[in-house]
Amino acid sequence: MLREPGWFFLHPGSCRLYDTRPSSRGMTVGCELFTEGLKTEIAQRPGGHHLLVPDTLAKLVSLQSLDKELVKLEAEAKAQPGWMAARERNYLEAKAVVEQIEAKIREKELLIKQKELDIASREEQMAKIEVQLNAVKTNRDFDTFKHQIEGLRADNSLVEDEVLALMTEVEETRRGMGPEKETLAAAKKEYDEGKAEAQTTFAEMQKKVQNHRSLRDHKAEEIPPEALHLYNKILGARSGSGISSVIDQTCQGCFMEITMHELTLVKKSDSLIQCKFCNRILYLPEDISV
Ligand SMILES: [Zn+2]
Repeated sequence: MLREPGWFFLHPGSCRLYDTRPSSRGMTVGCELFTEGLKTEIAQRPGGHHLLVPDTLAKLVSLQSLDKELVKLEAEAKAQPGWMAARERNYLEAKAVVEQIEAKIREKELLIKQKELDIASREEQMAKIEVQLNAVKTNRDFDTFKHQIEGLRADNSLVEDEVLALMTEVEETRRGMGPEKETLAAAKKEYDEGKAEAQTTFAEMQKKVQNHRSLRDHKAEEIPPEALHLYNKILGARSGSGISSVIDQTCQGCFMEITMHELTLVKKSDSLIQCKFCNRILYLPEDISV
């Protein structure tokens, strides 16, 4: 038994100590009632650090709840809000409708251009034949050339009608796409406004995450470095959960049953005990006050 002036352990390795100092009137105190000054004092004495295991466990449990909240906040900050996704969908749909109509217009305009080139080419042919016509010597040649010119003129007349019809169609389509353009403009406005709003929300969320992370890091400083290192290592490997309670002899992290011997070790609180299945540090909820 370790006996020091002022206080001594009730049992070696136990979590309770007998405090004989006048201020405590000889009370027996559990580790949950240790003051910070007493903890420092205990940690410096041989075997004293065992007394602080329940305290470390309580701090790790608090840290874990902060870490869980941090994971949630980070996910929220990362996720695009649902209303923003809906606005983007509306905008893209309206844009696709307008683009489809515009593609049809472009197709028709291209056709018009080709037909106009055909007309020009026939006009060129007619002009050449006119020159030949002026130099013919026989009536037969004259008739042949005349006939060719008439044929070309008739073809052009048909194609000119087609060009006119296409131009009318293009004009009508352009005039008719007013409602689609209005829908697109409204959807775009809503989307742009949403984007600005989402950026503000994102910045606010980032700030919230940052503040929460600072709080977490500050709390982590109170934990003995080896215990924190172990917890952080498990936390990284076990998606945000480094410590787990034991209820009915079962690890609540992986829901595997631990042995009676392991349960005794956890109860003893001499050192940090890990679940042999999931590696999480184990604690008994009734043994710690968070
Ligand atoms: Zn486990």
